[in-house]
Amino acid sequence: IFNSGLSGLGWLVERQSDDKGRLQIMIQLIRGFKDILPGEVEQWQEIERISRELFEDFGFKEIRIPIMERTELFKRSIGEDTDIVEKEMYTFPDRKGDLITLRPEATASIVRAYIQHKLFAKDPVQKFYLLGPMFRRERPQKGRYRQFYQIDAEIFGVASPLVDVQLILILVTLFDRLQVPDISAHINTLGCPQCRPGFKAALQEMLMSVSDRLCSNCIRRRDRNPLRVLDCKVPDCRAALKEAPSILDHLCSKCREDFAEVRCSLDKLKVPYVIDKRLVRGLDYYARTTFEIQTGSLGAQSAVAGGGRYDGLVKELGGPQIPATGFAIGFDRLAEISGLKPADYERKPDIFVAALGEKSQSLAFEWTCRLGLTGICAETDFSNKSLKSQMKRADRLGASYVLIVGDQELEEGTAILRNMATKEQTSISL
Ligand code: AMP
Repeated sequence: IFNSGLSGLGWLVERQSDDKGRLQIMIQLIRGFKDILPGEVEQWQEIERISRELFEDFGFKEIRIPIMERTELFKRSIGEDTDIVEKEMYTFPDRKGDLITLRPEATASIVRAYIQHKLFAKDPVQKFYLLGPMFRRERPQKGRYRQFYQIDAEIFGVASPLVDVQLILILVTLFDRLQVPDISAHINTLGCPQCRPGFKAALQEMLMSVSDRLCSNCIRRRDRNPLRVLDCKVPDCRAALKEAPSILDHLCSKCREDFAEVRCSLDKLKVPYVIDKRLVRGLDYYARTTFEIQTGSLGAQSAVAGGGRYDGLVKELGGPQIPATGFAIGFDRLAEISGLKPADYERKPDIFVAALGEKSQSLAFEWTCRLGLTGICAETDFSNKSLKSQMKRADRLGASYVLIVGDQELEEGTAILRNMATKEQTSISL
């Protein structure tokens, strides 16, 4: 088997011998993907719970959308010159040959749903949140996965930059509630279709002068989409761009006013921020306010959330001219740096029913089921083990109480209830 092609897939299979020495093939998960197991998942659930609560307090409604869409949707919204569309999408023809893509982000699909179901008809102002997996075929490394999770929020129908501020406030509050240390909000503006061309031209001119220091991607983007160059993560490119012009010197009066309003209301709400003139975000559809939450605890992958205004996208995708703004948080990174500990949220049995003898065991099973139905988490043993090993298991599971019942106790109509913390035992009537 290994000589006929599978050997190239070393990451897919692990060779093992069974107890008779025969070769067994164990299938491993796909590179860049990961399992979230009990012991970790409790923290994820708590993060989800706290996020949902915060969103709902701010009037957001949950939206669920498919994980696959027509490829065209992402090409048109995210933009052809982006890393995502150029090289990271999981795109394949389905059995009929239609090109479909596993969603690399959520905004495009939420906009599609907003337009398709005419959610704007009754009231253009709509606020959505979403939690779920996204897919990008990036080079796997610490903090970067090919299936990763995001928490998304989008607000449609409000042109005022005050909602951008509200989004930043929600982000900062959420990170605080999730005990994430060392975060800072970075903000910038990308201007609008009126003032951005002037900035683009100035940037392009500057890029021409440092062309010999740029990577081949940047050279290509310099001509087609120069803003994207500011987003390049290659250290040499970043160094070459130290003296790049700032969009803040090229803003039209409306964009300047909006950005001032963002800063002023962040000050009023006492949300600290850094103005980051290189913050352009990787996707094409952004305009005006953009922001990122960065953390000191993640090394190179310092952005844990990002977002901004995308006023043109609803129209671009076939809807009316309706402004919109939103953000996405990287869940995996958030979980890594959150101070919430999975052990604090792990549900342990309230009671373990240790039964000795046939009759008691059958009753123990019945009681365990009935307790479960009333919301009391109960466990029992199904394999006729000794009392000692049942007690050991109860201890390992972290049960608060053990109810010990044997056939003799049954006849007397009693059982022993042991408090596992105080080791106190009381005889109780059945
Ligand atoms: P983006 O949609 O690219 O603006 O990303 C928003 C956030 O999602 C980022 O700040 C990251 O925290 C997270 N993120 C993006 N790509 C990945 C990935 N491949 N693996 C893990 N997290 C990611």
